[in-house]
Amino acid sequence: MKNNYDVVIIGAGPAGYVAAIRCAQLGLKTACVDKWVDENNNPRLGGTCLNVGCIPSKALLESSEIFQQSETSLTQHGIIVDSVSLDLQQMMDRKNNVVNTLTFGIESLFKSNKIKWIPGQAKIQTSSTQSNKPGSRTDETKDLEYNKTVSVTLHNQDSLVLQSKNIIIATGSSPFNLSIAPLDNEFIVDSTGALAFDSVPKKLGIIGAGVIGLELGSVWKRLGSEVKIFEAQDTFLSFADEFIAKESLKLYSNQGLDIKLNARLLSSNVESTAENQSKVQMTYQDIDGDQVETFDKLIIAVGRRPNSDGLFSEENAIEMAEGGIIHVNDQCETSLPGVYAIGDVVRGPMLAHKGSEEGLMVAELISGLHRSVNYDLIPSVIYTHPELAWVGKTEQNLRAAAIDYKVGTFPFAASGRAQAVNETSGFVKIVSDAKTDQILGVHILGSHASELIAQAVIAMEFGSSAEDIALMMFAHPTFSEAFHEASLAVSGNALHITQRKMNKKP
Ligand code: FAD
Ligand code: NAD
Repeated sequence: MKNNYDVVIIGAGPAGYVAAIRCAQLGLKTACVDKWVDENNNPRLGGTCLNVGCIPSKALLESSEIFQQSETSLTQHGIIVDSVSLDLQQMMDRKNNVVNTLTFGIESLFKSNKIKWIPGQAKIQTSSTQSNKPGSRTDETKDLEYNKTVSVTLHNQDSLVLQSKNIIIATGSSPFNLSIAPLDNEFIVDSTGALAFDSVPKKLGIIGAGVIGLELGSVWKRLGSEVKIFEAQDTFLSFADEFIAKESLKLYSNQGLDIKLNARLLSSNVESTAENQSKVQMTYQDIDGDQVETFDKLIIAVGRRPNSDGLFSEENAIEMAEGGIIHVNDQCETSLPGVYAIGDVVRGPMLAHKGSEEGLMVAELISGLHRSVNYDLIPSVIYTHPELAWVGKTEQNLRAAAIDYKVGTFPFAASGRAQAVNETSGFVKIVSDAKTDQILGVHILGSHASELIAQAVIAMEFGSSAEDIALMMFAHPTFSEAFHEASLAVSGNALHITQRKMNKKP
């Protein structure tokens, strides 16, 4: 019985570890298998998000922002700093300490919740696939309770066989590689390499002007790199509100991020220069033809692919969607009864909070409770300066669906708090249904957008109209007042801005 579990979870990223904690809280005997090891070969919990994703990138974004502000903005406040210099090693040490604190925190949560952590690589054997959902057990299926088998290759190459009633696949994703720019982890790197440069590259090239390209490009630009970002599409941030995309592109350009749209990488290679230094030479194509550029480092940030290869001992064991995505329904059930999949390995945006919510939902469904994920209200954030955050529908979405809507926009330049703290770029935009006034989307460009967007999620979860928000009281002076003013602007009643300009639809 030692290796029999109610639930075996494969992957301990934000989807898997959250599912494990909730399963254990609900009294399920839970094991979590994860193959992640750090640079010293020590097993680590937390997956991409904690080790090489959300957390280290936000630590470096914060440090680099402070560095840049100390260099450029303090004088406006009447603070004179004679000289500012960079200790990159200390910056990296701080980032690593933040990561360690959080990953060790999960380790202690696993211990206190009595979750068995099994470091190693898991494979699902699919011989018997009877469901063990509460209510689905009959006398016949009872002896099949522990009917799912997961084999684990431990880090010392020993193997272990686990029997379980349920399996949750939470194996996450890995960066896409480009065959024309093979990673050497020194000059051509992915996001993981770009979080650990040991010096500031003088010239930095980035392929992909998506979330990673913009966040990591901002980090290294602030620390002194000359940054060029090459984006294959001709539209910048095509998935975001078009006004936010347009305005943010202007702001990034003013910050010195050189973003080239419609620029497709053709080839790259690492070459030795006359001074015996290695550089990356790349050729790309834009509307003017083939161009050549040379960089000290090149980051490849062209998206991520789900980790589903080699997960099953039998080929075609489970229904797959395109691109290695494991097919699931709204409850994250796969085509195999009792086998669930959550997080980056399934459809939907590759975001930590989306995976965590799916983890909570599946843990509760396995325990016979009811829970769902509202896939229409997944907030997105880009943690540049200023930040971009949004939830719900864009104007483009609504026009495409022929839904009539109203818009209310309020610029931070008209906010007392924003002026006081010198964070006046950007705006809050609310899009609501033309007939019912129900809020359909909120789009924010500005300081604290990542925090402000939570108000929009709460309002939209409760089916709020723009008028409901307009009738509420917001503390003064706060950035949140811009959300209030944008809701007033939907009906043409914003107080601190002339209406004519702000409510125009394209
Ligand atoms: P993962 O975190 O990838 O974890 C999967 C785990 O499964 C890994 O530990 C892996 O080792 C393990 N595994 C895989 N296969 C096996 C196997 N066969 N056996 C055992 N273990 C296995 N998202 C946000 O929401 N906000 C952000 O700010 C943000 N910033 C990011 C910054 C960067 C640089 C990157 C790269 C990503 C960022 N993301 C962010 C995305 C976020 O990291 C992912 O959406 C999230 O980690 C997905 O969680 P997950 O649990 O599905 O998978
Ligand atoms: P992305 O999908 O955000 O951006 C990739 C970009 O690369 C796209 O704009 C795409 O058009 C472009 N591209 C693709 N192939 C190209 C090529 N050959 N040449 C030039 N451009 C090319 O992916 P990402 O930035 O790698 O991030 C991966 C995932 O991680 C995303 O899904 C994102 O949700 C998640 N993430 C989230 C956050 C956050 O929430 N703040 C931060 C980082 C990463």
